Amino acid sequence: MQNIYQLFTTMDTAFQKYKLMKKIIVTLLGVTLITTSALAQQSREDSLNREAAKTEIWEPKPTKVEPGKTPSDAPSDAIVLYNGKNLDAWHRLGGGKAGWKIEKDGTLTVVKGSGAIETNMPFGSCQLHIEWRSPAEIKQSGQYRANSGVFFMGKYEIQILDSYTNQTYVNGQAGALYKQHIPLVNATKKPGEWQTYDIIFTAPQFYADGKVQVPGRFTVLHNGVLIQNNVDIKGTIQWVGPAVYEAHPAKLPFYLQDHDLDGGSPVSFKNIWIRPLD
Ligand code: MG
Repeated sequence: MQNIYQLFTTMDTAFQKYKLMKKIIVTLLGVTLITTSALAQQSREDSLNREAAKTEIWEPKPTKVEPGKTPSDAPSDAIVLYNGKNLDAWHRLGGGKAGWKIEKDGTLTVVKGSGAIETNMPFGSCQLHIEWRSPAEIKQSGQYRANSGVFFMGKYEIQILDSYTNQTYVNGQAGALYKQHIPLVNATKKPGEWQTYDIIFTAPQFYADGKVQVPGRFTVLHNGVLIQNNVDIKGTIQWVGPAVYEAHPAKLPFYLQDHDLDGGSPVSFKNIWIRPLD
């Protein structure tokens, strides 16, 4: 009996050892499989990272610019052309002192008949921010209703006009590239309310013989709404007849229009800044 008991004891011990060994082997196999799978996954990720790195560009880094506190405020790399204090950056178009009025609150208002005001500095391609306001009480209608405009390089006008309910030809309403491109939508605010233009202007380029090589382009946001989407400039603005390009220098001043025919509706301006893009 003793021998049989010892035999069973020995068999039970062997079985326990077998179970333990099996557990160890299964565990090791599991660990091996997991490790192999993790290594394969890591290898795939390393390979993808190497491929992705081939299309990464790290230098040169874009210049750091401090944005304005609000979209009305000039970023750190902008040239401030009017900040409500003086007209030092401007002169009368054609020569002489700029004759527009600076109100007590810093608003700049057209003085009818005093002439357009032109920047002292010349500009080529640029980003321009300008805020304007038709007077709350305006008279007349059509093109005689709070008409001004930004004449880039003295030749390409983005129209300023009360166009809230005013009826006129649509390629001459607010935000039109005058007589060339109708604004995509009418984003005009009521007379008496401030409005913004954010304009990206690409200057045209000319061959040595004076023919246009690359037409100019405009993108315009009116009160934050896209109204001109990279449209081509067809030539110097014409009131009568088609626009035609005339070769000119790469940089020229721009001016703000005194449309003195609409005598009762002077336009006001504030926060004018520009970022040259060339
Ligand atoms: Mg105009």
